Amino acid sequence: MKKTWLFLAAGGVLGGFYAFQHLRAPACPSANGHRKGERRPKVVVLGGGFGGLAAANTLGRQGGGLIDVLLVDKDNYHLFTPPIYQVAACGVNPWDVVCPFRPLGDRNGFSFLDARVEGIDFAGRRVNIANGKPIDYDYLIIALGSKTNYFHQADAEKYGSPLKTVEDALNLRNRVLDAFEAASGEQDPDLRRELLSFVIVGGGATGVELAGALHDLVYEVLAPEYRSLDLSQVRIVVVEARDKLLDHMSETLAWEAMRHLTSCGVEVMLNAKVRRVQPDLVETEGGQTIRTRTVVWTAGVEANEVAAGLAVPKGKGDTLRVDKYLRVLGQPGVFAVGDNAFPEDPKTGEPVPMLASVAIQGGETAAKNALRTIRGKPLIPFHYRHVADMVSLGRNSGVAEFDGKTVRGFAGWLLWRTVHLALLTGFRDKLGMALDWTFAYFYRRDTSRLNVEPVPMQAAKIAQMPSRARLTGEGKRAAPAA
Ligand SMILES: Cc1cc2nc3c(=O)[nH]c(=O)nc-3n(C[C@H](O)[C@H](O)[C@H](O)COP(=O)(O)OP(=O)(O)OC[C@H]3O[C@@H](n4cnc5c(N)ncnc54)[C@H](O)[C@@H]3O)c2cc1C
Repeated sequence: MKKTWLFLAAGGVLGGFYAFQHLRAPACPSANGHRKGERRPKVVVLGGGFGGLAAANTLGRQGGGLIDVLLVDKDNYHLFTPPIYQVAACGVNPWDVVCPFRPLGDRNGFSFLDARVEGIDFAGRRVNIANGKPIDYDYLIIALGSKTNYFHQADAEKYGSPLKTVEDALNLRNRVLDAFEAASGEQDPDLRRELLSFVIVGGGATGVELAGALHDLVYEVLAPEYRSLDLSQVRIVVVEARDKLLDHMSETLAWEAMRHLTSCGVEVMLNAKVRRVQPDLVETEGGQTIRTRTVVWTAGVEANEVAAGLAVPKGKGDTLRVDKYLRVLGQPGVFAVGDNAFPEDPKTGEPVPMLASVAIQGGETAAKNALRTIRGKPLIPFHYRHVADMVSLGRNSGVAEFDGKTVRGFAGWLLWRTVHLALLTGFRDKLGMALDWTFAYFYRRDTSRLNVEPVPMQAAKIAQMPSRARLTGEGKRAAPAA
């Protein structure tokens, strides 16, 4: 009875969200206000992550039909990264963290092209893409994000699992399920212990949240499925090079994360820099060796390879240096936002952190500045407003800090979920995520192992299809509606 009421209440809240989204006034279609025969400026946004999507939405909604907006991404969906560690822990379905671009573009007034960007010809004002004609632009917003930084450790890249994309999350999910399956049939106790040891390199927010979620997966979900296994052999180890967890957050949050994880039995190794990763071990510079078959690498990120390859001034991790209006130095009409950009906080002179909120605010500012440039208005400087820090630490436990206040335990966990549900893109994802969380909380999670290895042959065949050439470049579908 209690569960029925909970479902009805959740349904009511989500119904409200749906009505709000669909009864709102539609965004200006991009053709509004366009005078016949006049060529409209074309604004191209590269990358549809947090920064790029915010930019495309702002341009589409505020462009007043005076510009053409084209969003280009190598995937046909926007990925909401914060809960992807829950996909790896069987707590959330993968399709509830992604949202396709085309319906978003229809609603918000931008066109979409599914293409991999390979480079930018600033002099010719063209973007080079794989398997298609270059895309011309008048204004460009670069929001290609970041990639995992292995700090030149080729072995870590070869044997470790990254956690950046939804495919990474599914592969990690399979790796954990495979390890349990193999351990259940293993007679050698040393090998079994190795299979049941999970090492997370990097004690930032992703590593900490993953450790908590992995702990829940093992003890709440896999324990009843593998009754014959001795769970005292399971090890979850977080290896962090610095002297505290959550280095970019406050002492309170770092202490709370440390307290919670260690009280659950997660081992935390601080001041431990990884020196070597092999298929069956991780070795630190201090000479400690952890025997394991599963290493997750969440130790840091650096600029996306396309951004890193551009011949413009660079900041930390090959990010693109920008001025206070987010313009790429020395490139008129070109802006950069999010993880691939290097804006400095005007108050502290420090680079702003690589966060979704920074990317969203940057995307909005760059879009407004592109519009202001077109309209001949003065530009607005980028000021990052930090609202809150929050981490989910596992079932019923989280910690959040905002306005000098700290919220811990169940309240912190609930706050994390409420905020992330509100931030998710699209009603369908909000509903899906709310249901995933409700089911995972009250019922057993689904531990089916789905094979998600890429099928390169199929991808190559589709890329070679003749229609592909027409779809890309200045073709009918690629060009924004006139
Ligand atoms: C697991 C995880 C959890 C996180 N949790 C949080 C959190 O809780 N809170 C928070 O604030 N931040 C979090 N972050 C950080 C946050 O996700 C990033 O700061 C944010 O995504 C940066 O936005 P962006 O637009 O710069 O890049 P992204 O969101 O990464 O978007 C880049 C886009 O570019 C596209 N792209 C890349 N290369 C190409 C190419 N060659 N051609 C075409 N398209 C391309 C990608 O497909 C992607 O859509 C998390 C990150 C990870 C990995």
